[in-house]
Amino acid sequence: MRPDLAEKYDLRVPRYTSYPTAPHFGAAVDAAHYGQWLEQLPKDAALSLYLHVAYCAEMCWFCGCHTKITRQYAPVADYMDCLWREIDMVANRLPERMRAQHVHFGGGSPTILRPDDFVATVERLRRRFLIAEGAEIAVELDPRTADEAYVQAMAGAGVTRASIGVQDFNPKVQEAINRIQPYDVTARVIAWLRQYGVPEINMDLVYGLPFQSTESLMETVDLAVGFAPKRIALFGYAHVPWMKKHQTLIPEEALPDMAERWRQYEHAQHRLVTVHGYVQVGLDHFARPDDAMAVALAERRLHRNFQGYTTDEAPILLGFGASGIGSLPQGYVANEGSIHAYKDTIRAGRLAVTRGVAINDDYRLRRALIERLMCDLSLDVEAVCARFGADAAQFDAALDRLAPMQADGLLRRQGRVLHMTEEGRPLVRAACAVFDRYLKVGEARHSKAV
Ligand code: SF4
Repeated sequence: MRPDLAEKYDLRVPRYTSYPTAPHFGAAVDAAHYGQWLEQLPKDAALSLYLHVAYCAEMCWFCGCHTKITRQYAPVADYMDCLWREIDMVANRLPERMRAQHVHFGGGSPTILRPDDFVATVERLRRRFLIAEGAEIAVELDPRTADEAYVQAMAGAGVTRASIGVQDFNPKVQEAINRIQPYDVTARVIAWLRQYGVPEINMDLVYGLPFQSTESLMETVDLAVGFAPKRIALFGYAHVPWMKKHQTLIPEEALPDMAERWRQYEHAQHRLVTVHGYVQVGLDHFARPDDAMAVALAERRLHRNFQGYTTDEAPILLGFGASGIGSLPQGYVANEGSIHAYKDTIRAGRLAVTRGVAINDDYRLRRALIERLMCDLSLDVEAVCARFGADAAQFDAALDRLAPMQADGLLRRQGRVLHMTEEGRPLVRAACAVFDRYLKVGEARHSKAV
C-alpha cells in the first residue's frame, strides 16, 4: 500500500459490527420494547449469548473496552449477582427455554471472576437455555489473572474456546501500554488450557502501539505462532483519547505514523499468510486452513457481529451485563452502560436496556450488503437485493461513489459486482461506507480505517 493512499483514505469509518452502528442507537427503544421483542421471538430460533464482565484488575492504557478497575472482589460478586438475575429476567420473557448455540464471555476480564462464580454462571445459563450439543462456549482470557484453578474450572464447565489477550510480547511496548505480561505467563496459561482440554485457542495481537516497530511486531507474530493458535486476531490500535481518557497516558510521540502502521499491518499479514500458512479472514483475522472460520470463509458463511468476524449463524444475539448489546429480528438493544445504574435497574426488577434502534427492511438490506462486503471482500449487489425483493438500481449512485477507490486500484467493479483487491482489503470499511445511509464523513469520530 502506498503511503499516499493510506493518507487519502484515512477516513473515520465504523467497524461495521452492526448496521446501523451503535452511535445511531437512541432512547426510542427501551426496556419495554426489549421485553416485547423477547416475547415475540419464534420458539425454535437459535440464540447466541454474550455476557459482559465489566471489571478488570488494572487498566491497560490502550484499552477501548467498556470496563472498570477494581482491586476488590465485592463489586464483582455484586455485579455477577445482578447478571444472574438478568439471565433469569430475560429467560422469563422468552416463549420457552430456547436453544443457545454460542456463548461468549467478554469484557473487561472474565478471568477476574472466581472460578466458582464462573462455573455458577455457566450452570445458570444451562438451566435457563438449552445449550446445544457442540455449542461453542468462548471466553476472553487475560493470562495475568487466569490461574490454574480458573482454567480447570473453565474446562470443567465445557468451555471450548479461549481467546488469549497478548497484544505484544515486547517489554518496552508492554510498559508503554501498562500491560506487563511476560512471555512465560502466556506460555503457562496455554499449557494449562491444553492440559485441561480446552480445544480451541485464539490469540489477540495489536499493531500501531507505542514503541512498536515492524521488526518488533514480527518477533511478536513469530512468538504467537509458536503456540500454534487456531486463530490470530490482529487489530490496529485505535487512539481516541477524546473518548477514552486513559489513552492520554499513551506517549503520543511514540506512536507509529500512518505509513508505519501500514508497514506493520502489511508485514504481519505477509508473515502470517505466506510464511506461517494462515488464511486471512476479512480485515483482521487469520485462521489455520482447517479452522471453522477459514472453512466458513471459503463457503461464504462468515458473519459479523459485535465481537467481529464470527462463524456464529444464530439470527438472535442476547447481551447481558452493563453495556451488553443484543441483536433481535426487530432491532438492536443496548443495556445501560454505567455499572452502577445497571445494578440498580436490575435490582429493581427491570430489564436494563436504555437504547436501541428498530430496524426495517431498508436497514436489513443495507446490513446484508455491508456484511457480505466486510466478510467476502466481494459483493454482488443484485444477488443481495434479489434476496430482499429490492431494486438494485437504488444503489447505483452509491456504487459510483467508489470510483476514486477503483481508480486507485483498491477495488474492481463490474456493473453491480464489487471485488476488493488485495491492496484494497484493509480499506474495505471505507468501501462499505457508501451503503451507510447515516455516515457523513468527518461527523462521527470513529477509529481510523487502518
Ligand atoms: S484487560 Fe482487556 S478489557 Fe481490561 S483494561 Fe486491559 S485491554 Fe481493557
